[in-house]
Amino acid sequence: AKAQGRNGIAFYKQGMSDAVSRQLKLEVALRKAIEERQFRLYYQAQVNIDNGRVSGAEVLIRWNHPELGIIAPDEFISVLESSALISIVGQWVFETACYQLAQWVAEGIWKDDYHLCINISPRQFRDADFTAGIERVVKKTGVPAHCLEMEITENIVIYDLDKAIEIMRDLHDLGIRFSIDDFGTGYSSLRYIKRLPVNVLKIDRTFIQDMCTEKDDASIVDTIIAMARHMGLDVVAEGVETKDQLELLKSLGCPNYQGYYFSPPGTADEFKQLLLAA
Ligand code: C2E
Ligand code: CA
Ligand code: CA
Ligand code: CA
Repeated sequence: AKAQGRNGIAFYKQGMSDAVSRQLKLEVALRKAIEERQFRLYYQAQVNIDNGRVSGAEVLIRWNHPELGIIAPDEFISVLESSALISIVGQWVFETACYQLAQWVAEGIWKDDYHLCINISPRQFRDADFTAGIERVVKKTGVPAHCLEMEITENIVIYDLDKAIEIMRDLHDLGIRFSIDDFGTGYSSLRYIKRLPVNVLKIDRTFIQDMCTEKDDASIVDTIIAMARHMGLDVVAEGVETKDQLELLKSLGCPNYQGYYFSPPGTADEFKQLLLAA
């Protein structure tokens, strides 16, 4: 997150006068990045709060730019999403993550109850061949589909909700789980959310950030955890940075967390060390 502001400025400095030309220039660079395979996947551990052990990982894309170095996704995901490029990159992310998972399974270091969580852009759901593409990759790589989790945001409901539900059901039938990312920050109502066939709520890090000092944030986190329990959903608290936050989450009965406190996102090799230690 620290590097991305700097890179943002770097893109501006290259002689761009407005947001549109910046967007176009980024798009050209991203097409090149796809061709030249400049994307990398990082992995961030998810941890079981009861026993303090790794329970899975979230896959996070990085752009390894030849001049600018590692660029965080906030710099470019929205550009991919506003063009059709997100489908190409999204498919690459899913396939690459599955090959990595297959390797960890083969090495015997990936346990059957771990989950590998992959961010899916709402726009990917609109691709006619999305489900078929996912199914093909699952078959080809031989990964256990029940170890896969797709992270979607509440914004999925701004597209065709019934269609999204249908696609989610098909993927569910394959064994894939779904989580709602950044829960509590979207514009959708619980009435829509409850129709989605999801298994996990990920509490947005903005609530976790202030929960030890702001009573309201602690109440929101408490409420989300209680609601999830009543609905039979799993919970992951995002962006846990301190021991105090972890202790408070534990006292509220939160089952899982993710954050710099345990480990920042790292390369596949770095995450493998955490798996070996688990
Ligand atoms: P997200 O899905 O909410 O991912 C969590 C973000 O929080 C990641 O930022 C992660 O590095 C960061 N994070 C983790 N722990 C902490 C912490 O303790 N403190 C703080 N301050 N931050 C923490 P990252 O990797 O920069 O990703 C940003 C966003 O880009 C993601 O937010 C997600 O919306 C999107 N994204 C990342 N990878 C992909 C992808 O493969 N496909 C799609 N469609 N979107 C992606
Ligand atoms: Ca996510
Ligand atoms: Ca999130
Ligand atoms: Ca986010």
